[in-house]
Amino acid sequence: MSDCIFCKIAAGEIPCTFLHEDEELVAFRDIAPQAPTHILIVPKVHIADLNALDAAHQALVGRIPLVAAKLAKSLGVAESGYRIVTNCGPDGGQTVHHLHTHLLGGRSLVGQMG
Ligand code: 5GP
Ligand code: ZN
Repeated sequence: MSDCIFCKIAAGEIPCTFLHEDEELVAFRDIAPQAPTHILIVPKVHIADLNALDAAHQALVGRIPLVAAKLAKSLGVAESGYRIVTNCGPDGGQTVHHLHTHLLGGRSLVGQMG
């Protein structure tokens, strides 16, 4: 998707520091952090949202929590706790239409499920 900001970031077309990169996923800091630790975990391939997933994406999607847990440990929030969230559609509050998972931590998120 030539006009997709996360495709451009994942492809290295926009300068961005990756906290994680492998063949399928990148992770970088959210530009407008909602918590002291706010990371986005993003597939390199363009997938619009959760509704666009199919069985071929199963392994890729299954790796996202593993990357989140690895990042939580490396960023020092594994013990204090954290949350991963994927928004979908208008009611979910999705604003970037390239699948991504938020990793939020570094402060209490208790009582903030939406
Ligand atoms: P959504 O609202 O779709 O769940 O989350 C999109 C997130 O992407 C928002 O938290 C927003 O701050 C972040 N975001 C939007 N554009 C950029 C960008 O160009 N760079 C980075 N690092 N984050 C972005
Ligand atoms: Zn994209």
